[in-house]
Amino acid sequence: MHFTTLASGSSGNAILVGEDNRHLLVDCGISGKSLLHNLSQLNIQCSEIEGIVVTHEHVDHIRGVGVLARKLKIPVYATTGLWEAMGPSLGKIAENQCIEVRDSFFCAGLEVLLYPTSHDSRESYGLKVSRPKRQAKGGQSIGIATDSGRITAEMHQHLKGCDGFVVEANYDEERLRLGSYPAYLKKRISGHYGHLENKQLAVGLSEWIEANTQRVVLAHLSEENNTPKIALSTVLRILKELNISEKCPDIQVQVAPRHTPHELIVLKE
Ligand SMILES: [Zn+2]
Ligand SMILES: [Zn+2]
Repeated sequence: MHFTTLASGSSGNAILVGEDNRHLLVDCGISGKSLLHNLSQLNIQCSEIEGIVVTHEHVDHIRGVGVLARKLKIPVYATTGLWEAMGPSLGKIAENQCIEVRDSFFCAGLEVLLYPTSHDSRESYGLKVSRPKRQAKGGQSIGIATDSGRITAEMHQHLKGCDGFVVEANYDEERLRLGSYPAYLKKRISGHYGHLENKQLAVGLSEWIEANTQRVVLAHLSEENNTPKIALSTVLRILKELNISEKCPDIQVQVAPRHTPHELIVLKE
């Protein structure tokens, strides 16, 4: 399996997951045009994208969904509640491309499992995208968790032992506290329905990493209340303090760029 981020942060999020030449998108919060440009930078043909899964209706996750669905003629997968919340902002999409899903379904040959996160949208979900065991190949899975104010029981349940992760390290507690955001916004971000703090994420992640875990991408960093350097050093420090390197010595942790794609990460078999 492979995965990467195509854009990350409050200016727009999109994640690509796939295997060989079949892929799905998780969210498209940048314009359709920017998404196609970023895909071409990775040498991925847009005709190989088989669907878009939407995690929640905030604009940084759906900005380009409608345009892309119409252009590529691909299905959009979302729960009934999310269709109600975001439907009007997507513009017209052919009925047979609007797919209502519940907790799991298949797209691009991969199983997509949705689990709820804790966020101030109508509904919001994290994902586990898995390749079932096949003849010579074992199973693999990518865990995705962004836009959550806290680490939830469902995250522990579904993300433990994933091979790759895209997880939110939104803000640094100290920077948010001392920063210029108004008090109500600080409260929203750090509240139970806001976003994950670097240390908070690191402690959760330490429980999900297993010996098979290869790669972690830190995503959805705040431009104002975090920096790639702070996020990475905080997460690495905590993983070290919790002896994660003993369990998983070769794990690589990287930060998703804001406007450009991360390199395509191909998991080893
Ligand atoms: Zn959100
Ligand atoms: Zn977001």
